[in-house]
Amino acid sequence: MISGWSDLIGNAHLHGWFGNSIRQQRFGGSFLLVGPAGVGKRSVAALLARTLLCDRNPPESMAPCGQCEACVQVGAETHPDVIRVRKPADKSAIPIDLLIGRPEVRMQEGFCRDVRLSPYCGRRKVAILEDADFLNEEGANCLLKTLEEPPSDAVILLIGTSEQKQLPTIRSRCQVIRFAPLNPTEAARLIREVHHVDADPAEIAHAVEVAGGDITASLRLLNEDTRRFRDALIGALSDPFPDPVTIRRIVTTRVDEAGKEAPKKRAVLHDIFSMAVGHYRKMMRDEALAATARPITLARLDRSVRAIRELERMANVSTLIDCFAADIAAGKTGDRGAIGS
Ligand SMILES: [Zn+2]
Repeated sequence: MISGWSDLIGNAHLHGWFGNSIRQQRFGGSFLLVGPAGVGKRSVAALLARTLLCDRNPPESMAPCGQCEACVQVGAETHPDVIRVRKPADKSAIPIDLLIGRPEVRMQEGFCRDVRLSPYCGRRKVAILEDADFLNEEGANCLLKTLEEPPSDAVILLIGTSEQKQLPTIRSRCQVIRFAPLNPTEAARLIREVHHVDADPAEIAHAVEVAGGDITASLRLLNEDTRRFRDALIGALSDPFPDPVTIRRIVTTRVDEAGKEAPKKRAVLHDIFSMAVGHYRKMMRDEALAATARPITLARLDRSVRAIRELERMANVSTLIDCFAADIAAGKTGDRGAIGS
């Protein structure tokens, strides 16, 4: 957790923007914070909560003390005026019970009701809904009224990875605050200083590129054991005649090591496909430089990009691995036209 606005790495514009709207007394309502995973959206939400609730320093100072009871409670996630909802790890969407209460006590508990209560101690309530990417239609419908007419003493912060992943009904009711991806220097600072990963800058830059700016995924890629796995995978993909059985075995073993939970398996597979995309992109660049560009490399790159899209559409994991391995070996893009053909 970062302690002050000056500790925020990247996205320096946010400090000024929030500072101005707080000083002009027009900070309130519903916000949607979007940007790549790991760039600091949750840290900023917590920092805003401390800025608004600190017992010692007024919000306009934009300098929460970090030591008073309110600041400490925000950090420990025990502040009574900070409402939080996040997706449970074993669920594929945010359960509506968390939003409007369990069936037997509907509207008597949950996010929407807590937002409406008057603040216990502070002047404000700060309601943080993480994992907004995982709001389904039903959950979103429960939130509409709350987002549209939040009480004047409440600030609602929804956190997601991209605007496109939010339902239009949600997006249209929130002011969107965009977090930019970190530049390579900022990413390296965050990964080394905040996450204490001791890797060399080139390796960090490569991981961030492969992960498409997603810092959480970059951290997974930089892990020692992951690096060994990547070497084995890249070895198999670089073979002049890639063997589908070997690729399938390497990928399946890795995915199975992630445990039984489907979301974890899918996250690992996402990383694997990202590694394949990174590998074939690099190969394309190398071939272009050497004037030996080959259509088969482009086909394999397309196939890897397609695999990520299929995974995001929740395709079956083992079928996906089988098709990926077979197509990479054959050098096919995997575009099978209409389903069933
Ligand atoms: Zn304080």
